[in-house]
Amino acid sequence: MRAMLITRIVDLKADRRPLELREIPRPRPGDREVLLRVLACGVCHTDLDEIEGRTPPPRLPVIPGHQVVGRVEEQGPGAGRFKVGDRLGVAWIFSACGRCAFCRSGRENLCPDFRGTGRDADGGYAEYMTVGEDFAHPIPQAFDDAQAAPLLCAGAVGHRALKLAGIADGDSLGLTGFGASGHLVLQTVGRKYPNAQVYVFARAEKEREFARELGAAWAGDTGDRPPEKLRAIIDTTPVWKPVVEALRNLEAGGRLVVNAIRKEDADKDSLLKLDYAADLWLEKEIKSVANVTRADVSEFLALAAEIPLRPEVEEFRLEDANAALLEIKERRIRGAKVLRISS
Ligand SMILES: [Zn+2]
Ligand SMILES: [Zn+2]
Repeated sequence: MRAMLITRIVDLKADRRPLELREIPRPRPGDREVLLRVLACGVCHTDLDEIEGRTPPPRLPVIPGHQVVGRVEEQGPGAGRFKVGDRLGVAWIFSACGRCAFCRSGRENLCPDFRGTGRDADGGYAEYMTVGEDFAHPIPQAFDDAQAAPLLCAGAVGHRALKLAGIADGDSLGLTGFGASGHLVLQTVGRKYPNAQVYVFARAEKEREFARELGAAWAGDTGDRPPEKLRAIIDTTPVWKPVVEALRNLEAGGRLVVNAIRKEDADKDSLLKLDYAADLWLEKEIKSVANVTRADVSEFLALAAEIPLRPEVEEFRLEDANAALLEIKERRIRGAKVLRISS
């Protein structure tokens, strides 16, 4: 099969073709696993965090990609939850131990043995992949293959972030950064909290325009002041300046939810601008989002179909994965980027 592989950790500024297209053997499904023929796979900033070494894969080469939509091609020994031909999704959670205190209390996202799809196991930048049947999710019919892909990370992690933000209807919510996740969260808020006002902070005017099109009450640059203080803000940027700016925009007791697996170090000195009295005092909180649980994914897929969400998707061929990654690196983004692998 054809696959795009991470073979080495690179600096994307110096090496603009980090993934290698290779012909490799098709994987075989193990116990209670299914083999999926991959239809589409979303491209995520976390793929860049792997490639650039901020969350490096434990072994190389590895096939990245953790927003995978595929059809069951073959079942491994003991697998029987699905049928050949079923359309399934694979999200960032590839496996968790199922036995530790976190797993037993509905927090498998925090399991010390958590394995991420496309980092700790081969993912979906390939024509086929295998996954444990208990870690695959049926894809609602409301979505075509490419539209469904970003629901599996951008959407599902966004959903987890929104739950952690803890807002109620009528509250004001900020979104810092407006990429794949932001545009899905904004549409979800419109449905779950119809009286909430959403304020979007984004560097590019194109992103701000897109946010207004989708119903944002206001959209400004990272350092702009919104017309009111906000109850909660979800940050999906890879940098630090928006964190400090966001804290400044929170009301007393407000909460900042940082939805990023890693932050880049380039502007880390922005943190020195943090002013305790203005930015943190009055019981402001900062919380990060780590991974997703299977329940986050299945809840969100059901919600997305019910709304129904309309993911904005830009398609690339498998062999053009490097181009898609570079556009994310350079923040040339409208909605989500998806590799269309077969039909
Ligand atoms: Zn992701
Ligand atoms: Zn566990």
